[in-house]
Amino acid sequence: MTRLNTELLPFSEQSAKKAAEIMAAGGGVGIPTETVYGLAADARNEAAVRSIFEAKGRPQDNPLIVHISAREQLPPLVREIPELALKIAEKYWPGPLTMIFPKSDMIPAATSGGLDTVAVRMPESPAARAIIDACGFPLAAPSANLSGSPSPTYCTIIDCMAVGYAIDPTLVETRKCRCGVESTVLCFPAADRVRILRPGGVTAEMLSELCQADIDPAVTSEPPKGAKVMSPGMKYKHYSPKAEVFIVNAHGKQFGDWCMSHAAEGTLALSADPVEHGMFRCFGRDTAEQAHRLFALLREADDEGAKTIYVEMPSKEGIGLAVYNRLLRAAAFRVIEV
Ligand code: AMP
Ligand code: MG
Repeated sequence: MTRLNTELLPFSEQSAKKAAEIMAAGGGVGIPTETVYGLAADARNEAAVRSIFEAKGRPQDNPLIVHISAREQLPPLVREIPELALKIAEKYWPGPLTMIFPKSDMIPAATSGGLDTVAVRMPESPAARAIIDACGFPLAAPSANLSGSPSPTYCTIIDCMAVGYAIDPTLVETRKCRCGVESTVLCFPAADRVRILRPGGVTAEMLSELCQADIDPAVTSEPPKGAKVMSPGMKYKHYSPKAEVFIVNAHGKQFGDWCMSHAAEGTLALSADPVEHGMFRCFGRDTAEQAHRLFALLREADDEGAKTIYVEMPSKEGIGLAVYNRLLRAAAFRVIEV
């Protein structure tokens, strides 16, 4: 995919205004958020939204998240807001949390992937919020990668696939994709509980402080072929570098020894061990660091021409569940038991 007229703008009030002008005219803009870079367009504008799908090569049934900058912007987008959603928004918005509601007519079918629901998030990134504020309309923004490849996080917008113009905040700002993995996505199956469809920075443990938080089976396992999944994005192979990824269920020395005995030319091993040597790269000593580094490491592996990547099984606690969920998809669900 070629980039068309990509222009890099350091983040400022003025560039937020320019981004708003581009999107008001139906264009797309790459924007930074605290999760990953997004490729944004006016969520109400069907043609603009279609151009985002086209730019990413995204399957049309994979709905986009709609981004707002203040809670008052939510009611016009939806037909109903559960009490529990208000309580959760009070605590975790702005932040890396997306909630699913019955959609209003303001949201075209192109944005919702043909569903009768809409996913809404209020990001905490000051740059994202300033851009939404300048627009005065909600932004549909999927991750700014080509569909299926790792999401852009550490990298600058130069590494992102972008259409039209792109906003590049200062490099410091781009390196602050605080979470490094996409937002938590949840829905409301009952008044007193939520179902996590995609794990992210607002963890199951954090949500459990407010209500029962169930984890959808598709988060940690491969949905059967043709099965109806609650979050369409979960059925696709995703986040994958060119190299073949395998999760290895072993830790420490056992992981190291297993990798050594299975290494071939072009093998990389991502481990929790901070000491990097030979084919071993540090994946992060804890889950927060792993979430932050995951996509950048997968991209770097591509740059190095890696053929095979073995990854030490992450912990599934806290944001670790999001790391495991993304890795499972990057690995096409291949887990090696040692
Ligand atoms: P991305 O924009 O790449 O971060 O992906 C957005 C994720 O949110 C995808 O996995 C979608 O399946 C999910 N999503 C968006 N809207 C809905 C919706 N209305 N119902 C269920 N899942 C949704
Ligand atoms: Mg994505």
